[in-house]
Amino acid sequence: MVGKDRKEKKGRDSKEGKYDEIKKELEGQKASLLAESGEIISGGLSPGMENFPDMTDQASAEADQNFTLRLREREQKLLKKIDEALDRINNGTFGICESCGGEISFKRLEARPVTTLCIECKTRQEADEKIREA
Ligand SMILES: [Zn+2]
Repeated sequence: MVGKDRKEKKGRDSKEGKYDEIKKELEGQKASLLAESGEIISGGLSPGMENFPDMTDQASAEADQNFTLRLREREQKLLKKIDEALDRINNGTFGICESCGGEISFKRLEARPVTTLCIECKTRQEADEKIREA
């Protein structure tokens, strides 16, 4: 549950409308990850802490980073993926396979928004990994 969509100023002139839902989903995931890790670390967030009412972007970025540093590794990785996905949405490269440069299907992005590979490349990568693990 994230009710504070105060960062709309950036989205106004962006043309990534079709990824709006995915973006919200990612932001929600990120917020709950941060909230969770905050609880783990300090036994609870101080009220208002996750809001960053009208602080500068830098201040909230630094706060984000402080949290990030203390996250457990797995959460850290996921958070990084989420951030990268959000970055890609913001600069218009979201949904492009980083291996072959092709488009990733919307269905796949909905199911796994943090993915950077199209299904063909992912399948190939998994096959490679299996060979290596075997
Ligand atoms: Zn690909």
